[in-house]
Amino acid sequence: MNTYRKTIARRIGQPRVGRLLVPGMRRLLVFVLWLAFILLLTLFVGLNAGQLLPALAEDTSDDPLQAGLHKEGLGQSPQAAGTAAGESWMLALVNAENPLPNNHAPRLRSLANGLPFDERAIDQLEGMLAAARAEGLSPLVCSAYRSIDTQRELFDNKVARLRASGMDGAQADAQARREVAYPGTSEHNLGLAADIVSLSYQSLDVAQASTPEFQWLLRHCAEYGFILRYPKDKMGITGVIYEPWHFRYVGVEAATEITEQNLCLEEYLAN
Ligand SMILES: [Zn+2]
Repeated sequence: MNTYRKTIARRIGQPRVGRLLVPGMRRLLVFVLWLAFILLLTLFVGLNAGQLLPALAEDTSDDPLQAGLHKEGLGQSPQAAGTAAGESWMLALVNAENPLPNNHAPRLRSLANGLPFDERAIDQLEGMLAAARAEGLSPLVCSAYRSIDTQRELFDNKVARLRASGMDGAQADAQARREVAYPGTSEHNLGLAADIVSLSYQSLDVAQASTPEFQWLLRHCAEYGFILRYPKDKMGITGVIYEPWHFRYVGVEAATEITEQNLCLEEYLAN
């Protein structure tokens, strides 16, 4: 190749190749930087969602992003969190000292008889009822979720009846608090409690304990994550009369431990 042709090649070829390569590389570089930025942003938002909003993460576990985070151990997994976040809703303590906020509004679904229950535990409740029915029993849920407004009406009615029976205001109020939870302090306001009676005996009194439905529930409720919330021998701790009809969902693990160790929820949570 003579010098002339090399010179032409340099003059014509090299600048032409340079013009083609440099903009191409710039576009590639910009693209790679954008990709890295978007990946970092997605990861940052995903991690924050898992750490700052554990309740939301629990509720949105169907979300592929959250599901991925759970698998990789980056999100708030129930196992890793223990009772801190993943299970806290099912172990919520509601009593006279621990009232619910007035705006408490669980997501509800209705039982076959139309009564609402927390949607996160309704399948377990229905499973327990179905298993009892399969044994030839007839359990009946007569009360499930109640709004705090409804609770206020119940409480006021109880006070009125006690006053009509001769108690003064303070006595009636104190006695009513023993029999009907004060608005916001009832587990029925929480959405995880159900009063279950026998179809053939629907009174809410101690004789309910003699029905085969109660006997079966007492033996099997923990298998479905439920406990008898107000046992006879725990009245001094729960502050609530013996209620052989009021069952509370706490999850299978807690229910099993509570039942095996003969605890009430207050004692279990204090340990
Ligand atoms: Zn109840």
